[in-house]
Amino acid sequence: MSFVETLNVKSIKELAIREKRVFIRTDYNIPLDNEGNITNINRIERTLPTIKHALEHNSRIILASHLGRPDGERDPLYSLEPIATILAEVLERDVFFFEDCVGMGAQQMVRDIKPGQILVLENLRFNPEEKKNSMTFARELAKMCDVYINDAFGVSHRKDASVNALPSLVDTKGMGLLMKKEIEELSKLIGLKRGDGFYSIIGGSKVLDKITIIRPMLEVVDRIMIGGAMAYTFLAAKGIKLGNSKVEEDKISIAREIIRGAEARGVDLLFPVDHVAAKTFDSTETEIFSNDNFPENMMALDIGPETVKMYVEKLEGCKYVLWNGPMGVFEKDQFAKGSLALAQAVASLDAHTVAGGGDSVSLMKKAGVKDMFTHISTGGGASLEFLKNNTLPGIDALR
Ligand code: AMP
Repeated sequence: MSFVETLNVKSIKELAIREKRVFIRTDYNIPLDNEGNITNINRIERTLPTIKHALEHNSRIILASHLGRPDGERDPLYSLEPIATILAEVLERDVFFFEDCVGMGAQQMVRDIKPGQILVLENLRFNPEEKKNSMTFARELAKMCDVYINDAFGVSHRKDASVNALPSLVDTKGMGLLMKKEIEELSKLIGLKRGDGFYSIIGGSKVLDKITIIRPMLEVVDRIMIGGAMAYTFLAAKGIKLGNSKVEEDKISIAREIIRGAEARGVDLLFPVDHVAAKTFDSTETEIFSNDNFPENMMALDIGPETVKMYVEKLEGCKYVLWNGPMGVFEKDQFAKGSLALAQAVASLDAHTVAGGGDSVSLMKKAGVKDMFTHISTGGGASLEFLKNNTLPGIDALR
């Protein structure tokens, strides 16, 4: 029996959806730039198999998602209307949009759509009840579903109303095809133990988020390579201060605890030895410094060439990789080299390579290796929590 089968959750392919109102919770929390322009439509594309399956069965398709953190208030910057437009373009058919996700107007729209038509509802998080897992809000959403499908892997670690409360009110429910694929690929990392050649590469900026990842990983991985801004808090914990680089002072003691935990378990926890540095985020002039000669007035913004060389060498013996977060500010070319070089090295390994997190797709695309990874997860936090607990609140709610 495969891991997915043990979950006892039906997939959309096993449900009677013909001409039914199929409410699909998607994760259209796509990256936006500072002006609110969509920078990457990967999360939209990844839901197409589920939508196409529903179209083949002439379902009445209702798509609901959150976007950004509008904090329960209507904010045009986070409207889902542009997503409806993109869907219409990629599917080459009309896609309707309604300016709310609940209420009489939304219900009327749902009544009006015909088999084979698609309706996108407005951002679920414009309603404060969504984040509160409110049963009242879920009841409003339930009025619009004959069938509930969760295809929003990236948000299924959250107990939000559309992910957790809503499915408990709908009899016919299951997972979408993206959700199923995420579970299938990630479950190949479940049950690994030390000695199996499981390595992890962790970067990005938020120390606390990443600590929650690293802690359980210490029990199963052989090696962890750290990069990104959070590396500087770890280096500070080891007494290495890097000029103006970003250090989260209040997390230094947790970093110390992780370092001790790795030592106690024999996990090879690696840190950068050199850095691409600049005066500010916007500088285009960069210089390389090692941990020993880092100047006061500079900040580290990428891992340096010696670190890349060491990390690439240390990939030897690797059978499984879990990558979460970039090694530097890869969005800017002058600070992208470290992430790109390591991504290319990982992609060419003969190993089961998984990357997760909102940025991962953009990074792997920039490195030209998006299709060379075994799996790129649409969920960063969700993939890690899934590996820790072997399930998620959004999966449990589908039983
Ligand atoms: P996270 O969401 O925690 O995975 O962080 C991703 C972000 O970390 C990216 O947008 C990077 O630009 C940023 N980042 C990575 N390395 C650094 C660094 N050295 N200094 C500042 N920000 C960084």
